[in-house]
Amino acid sequence: MKILVPVKRVVDYNVKIRVNPDGSGVDLTNVKMSMNPFDEISVEEALRIKEGGDAREIVVVSIGPAKAEETLRTALAMGADRAILVETDDAVEPLAVAKILKGVADAEKPGLIIVGKQAIDDDSNQTGQMLAALAGVGQATFASAIELFSDKARVTREIDGGLQTIEIKLPAVVTTDLRLNEPRYASLPNIMKAKKKPLEKKSPADFGVSTAPRLKVLRTEEPSGRKAGVKVKSVAELVDKLKNEAGVL
Ligand code: AMP
Repeated sequence: MKILVPVKRVVDYNVKIRVNPDGSGVDLTNVKMSMNPFDEISVEEALRIKEGGDAREIVVVSIGPAKAEETLRTALAMGADRAILVETDDAVEPLAVAKILKGVADAEKPGLIIVGKQAIDDDSNQTGQMLAALAGVGQATFASAIELFSDKARVTREIDGGLQTIEIKLPAVVTTDLRLNEPRYASLPNIMKAKKKPLEKKSPADFGVSTAPRLKVLRTEEPSGRKAGVKVKSVAELVDKLKNEAGVL
């Protein structure tokens, strides 16, 4: 079985985001970019499945600028076999990403597609679900455990207040949640080896997909700063403040 893993290049999760003064978006000048953390989890899971003997090839795909090649090389250094870069300088919205991924899936015919539950830049949480619908296959979202059988997967899902275990037929789309695994680091020799692994370049037009935006961002704002705290002298004063100032009791 082949596993397809989409990986997105996003602002590194450690970076303190700066909003453009005109509110038009986030300032990306000289900002460190990395693989979306949920996609690292997806790559790790695909590697574990392959190491367990249930997959023979892992193909990673990224839709983004030429620099997204770095993200793909990171996935190759972790252990993926092959990469596809669908190159575009446009900010591609989830529906267009899902349509491109459907095109890649039609060509590659993976038995399993492991998608991150959300990209930490746009927080859309849409791509995996739309991809499953477009591809006409089942989906198991927010996975915290995946077990494979010959033609099906048993997936434990993180739901409100607990865990739900479901079974879906393959091929399918699974989206990864934080607790699924802890991704490995790429070793230096593997980073060197990854430079020689195959990376194919495509464009959205190769899949007949337009990347023209469907929505317009009206405004981007930083979260409002937190108010300074106060020290209380007694439990009675705390209760009074919670009741009469914060209004939470
Ligand atoms: P989103 O729906 O934007 O929150 O993204 C969910 C997941 O879809 C991500 O974790 C990736 O696995 C995948 N994805 C979204 N955008 C891209 C992209 N430009 N290239 C590759 N994968 C993507």
